[in-house]
Amino acid sequence: MPLKLKKVFRVANSSKSIADNVLIKLSHDELTGYGEAAPSEFYGENSQTVIATLNSIKEYFSGILPELTSTTDSVGEKIAGNYAAKAAVSIALYDLIGKRLNLPLHQVLGLTQPLSGSLTSVTIGIDSLPEIQKSVEAAEEFPILKVKLGSENDREIIECIRKITDKPLRIDANEGWCRDEAVEKINWLRGEGVELVEQPLPADEIADTAWVRERVSLPIFADESVKTIHDIPKLANAFDGINIKLMKCGGITAALRMIKAARSPGLSIMLGCFIESSIAITAAAHLSAACDYLDLDGHLFLVDDPFTGLQIKRGRIKLPDSPGIGVIKRE
Ligand code: MG
Repeated sequence: MPLKLKKVFRVANSSKSIADNVLIKLSHDELTGYGEAAPSEFYGENSQTVIATLNSIKEYFSGILPELTSTTDSVGEKIAGNYAAKAAVSIALYDLIGKRLNLPLHQVLGLTQPLSGSLTSVTIGIDSLPEIQKSVEAAEEFPILKVKLGSENDREIIECIRKITDKPLRIDANEGWCRDEAVEKINWLRGEGVELVEQPLPADEIADTAWVRERVSLPIFADESVKTIHDIPKLANAFDGINIKLMKCGGITAALRMIKAARSPGLSIMLGCFIESSIAITAAAHLSAACDYLDLDGHLFLVDDPFTGLQIKRGRIKLPDSPGIGVIKRE
């Protein structure tokens, strides 16, 4: 289902105006679980690969009484790659689990509502300076901005934002810098009220990222460098934290395992998203209490979000209390 964006969303390594996401329903015992895949060409997926993957496992769900928690794992093992497709199944199954247990998903997972200080950032994409100014003004109620850099006018972008607001900034370079440039820019950004920098260098340049990290004092987070749990061991000396997204890792069970695995080498956790409807954003938000930084704004870019769920007031997130993920289809 193509989800139209309010405006073109541009970052250093891609841009889009439509999110061709796949929304799914899984019904069992008169209960319905909702799921969503937000496939990214960057990670080798699109709506066709998602649909083909889902069709290939359809049989698996028909005519059996799924043991739901174990089913989410076995689906993950059954399919190689195709993480967004797996995430859709995982979200729908966990929605069903919650509805069957009559508990909101975070309680099913042994988690609480996010702590009262849990704020999500809202993203300012790469754009002309007048458009950036408009986006910053439109984000007035959000106390933290995530600013996309990695273009030739990074300094002008920050100076433009600083004329409007002094709120804390998180930077995402989306692999847009080389190592000397990264050191210079990160050290400058430190004096500009920046809290952290995400993915300064290309995903596979881990040793160079460690080199950069030794020369800067802001925390460095991995996003493109970390998809699944298997990427974590090699990151520990190069990064201070990782950005976990359901669509990269394959769903809720996989994300929970990543959170655990990242804690032992001392990595902080950001919970992020792609451009997603309230289905996938709300599903991810149920993991908030286990994470340190939230970046759950993907649904805010849609012209027509087909569902409601997560509420965000002045950047503070509130999960639905209803069973499962707690999303409701808009009429
Ligand atoms: Mg990122």
